[in-house]
Amino acid sequence: MNGKLGLTLFIALLLTFSLGCGSESLSKNEYTIATGSKSGVYYPIGETLAGILKIDYPNVQLKALETAGSVENLQMLKEGKVDMALVQNDIAFYAAEGEAMFADQKITNITGIATLFPEVVQFIVRKETGIGSLTQMEGRKIAVGSKNSGTYYNAQQILTLAGVWEKIDQQFIGGTDAMKELQEGKIDGFIFTSGLPNPSIIELAKKVEITLVPVEHDLVQKLVNSYSFYFPSTIAPNQYPGQIAEVSAVEINAILVSGPSLSDDDQYLLTRHLFGKPNELGQSHPRLSKMTRNSLRRQMPIQTGKGAYKAHSEAP
Ligand code: GLU
Repeated sequence: MNGKLGLTLFIALLLTFSLGCGSESLSKNEYTIATGSKSGVYYPIGETLAGILKIDYPNVQLKALETAGSVENLQMLKEGKVDMALVQNDIAFYAAEGEAMFADQKITNITGIATLFPEVVQFIVRKETGIGSLTQMEGRKIAVGSKNSGTYYNAQQILTLAGVWEKIDQQFIGGTDAMKELQEGKIDGFIFTSGLPNPSIIELAKKVEITLVPVEHDLVQKLVNSYSFYFPSTIAPNQYPGQIAEVSAVEINAILVSGPSLSDDDQYLLTRHLFGKPNELGQSHPRLSKMTRNSLRRQMPIQTGKGAYKAHSEAP
């Protein structure tokens, strides 16, 4: 081999190697992730992700922001106010298609990173109200979620099909305020689409007796037939203090998405580091310990980002 050819080959190899590996350093020192209310599961997961990132990148901060939930998170992403967000897959679908609450406001600049865990639509009432079914919520004061949450839209869809949406006294407050008001006896119940069990509801149930109201099987069937993102679900016994029986319910999936402020290279590195440590992630919530390489790609309603796709393909 002559010298010139040797050098050309050497440069070609070097280029292939460096392009193939990508840079190991993130382009920014600070990233933001939109989560939900502090009494939810999104917020502590945001903090866990921040902790995991610190293991490999001690100088990089991931800030978890408290928000109203999925709808607000998607708007913040679109406007470049946050780099990533935890959102419900049903709501992300509506955003990408420009449907329902996103009619005429289609969001085209978001991509999926990973599917995390199922979230169950939980209907909680004070036990002393005697409410045992969704129809018995008629005339009662029920917190249906902040208007920019995913919970609010699940409450609206489910209670509309149950025939009581217009008949309840709707309170537009999120998890933290709803739990406080339920404890103080100011409201009869609340709805929260959240991971199971929700630690704040466990604490609440230690202070005031609660009932988990079932979504009856017929209604589950109707919901599954009418909306593509609901799946039949159950709340197993003893998820919450005093809850001895299994409760019929529906679930959707929580996903991690990113917006225009996150480059493909950063998305690749973040996906690799955040999901390459299943033990740390699993400890933050029991539901996360069930994640697998395949589950990370399941039920993603929007296009998976290039960086995330690359990271998932390389995972062992
Ligand atoms: N799924 C909820 C929402 O977007 C937030 C749930 C949580 O923080 O646990 O409205």
